[in-house]
Amino acid sequence: MFNNLSDKLDKALHTLKGHGQITEINVAETLKEVRRALLDADVNFKIAKDFTKKVQTKALGQNVLTTLNPGQLMVKLVKDELTELMGGDTVGINLGGSPTVILMSGLQGSGKTTFSGKLANYLKTKKTKQVLLVGCDVYRPAAINQLQVVGEQIGVEVYAEEGNKNPVEISKNAIAHAKANGKNVVIIDTAGRLAVDQEMMTEISNIHKAINPQETLFVVDSMTGQDAVNTAKAFNDILNFDGVVLTKLDGDTRGGAALTIKSVVDKPIKFIGTGEKMEAIDVFHPDRMADRILG
Ligand code: GDP
Repeated sequence: MFNNLSDKLDKALHTLKGHGQITEINVAETLKEVRRALLDADVNFKIAKDFTKKVQTKALGQNVLTTLNPGQLMVKLVKDELTELMGGDTVGINLGGSPTVILMSGLQGSGKTTFSGKLANYLKTKKTKQVLLVGCDVYRPAAINQLQVVGEQIGVEVYAEEGNKNPVEISKNAIAHAKANGKNVVIIDTAGRLAVDQEMMTEISNIHKAINPQETLFVVDSMTGQDAVNTAKAFNDILNFDGVVLTKLDGDTRGGAALTIKSVVDKPIKFIGTGEKMEAIDVFHPDRMADRILG
């Protein structure tokens, strides 16, 4: 994928050879290809524009035409800058506290329940953790059932309280249950709605205040493009979350939401979801995402 852009930049810069010193216009021309790649990947227009401007300044500081392969140097500049903007390195989750409490937030359909299962499975197999999954969607019995199916599939206990309509109470009871039963990680799956509304925000904010989680993750469907950014902002304003989970990256999205979300809320993307199966989870690698966005 990455080669496409690399080839384009290489070609664009080679045609400039023999025309003397590289000029601002030459660089701007080649960076148009970069901007196009970013916009194609669904990166917000202003962010794409700011980004190419930054790279332009850097490129002009280096005489790209004197190198053997100017296209490759440009691609490296672009890729390094993109990686840096997405956080540079992989950021893990805080597993402190006893137990560690992880709160999931996000819209309905974003992949919260699936990801809760994936994370439980990931922690259970990789970190020898004793995990408790908690179903807090008091509006949709089907959501609790779905979590129970997931729990059975991965061999993780699911805590739910049939008939209790108070998610704050359920969360607190679940943490007490975890302590009493030797669980050191509690993952709380909350109710989402199809769009941001006040009731959902108040509810998750109340849960957040009551349990003070070590880690609050915002789960977002990478296919939702620009909408993902507004949702991220709304949740971050209320929760000041710790990290983002980008789901459904197995689809044909180029993942520009990663860059836009990171730029807007300035929180690390910690995990990605790459399928419906419990194993389809990966920690987020900014450099790999840069390759994908550039296409
Ligand atoms: P929730 O409403 O936020 O709890 O979302 P769910 O976990 O129920 O997920 C909604 C749908 O997206 C389900 O059909 C999941 O199987 C699917 N899903 C979740 N994560 C992924 C993913 O990474 N890739 C794909 N292809 N599907 C996913």
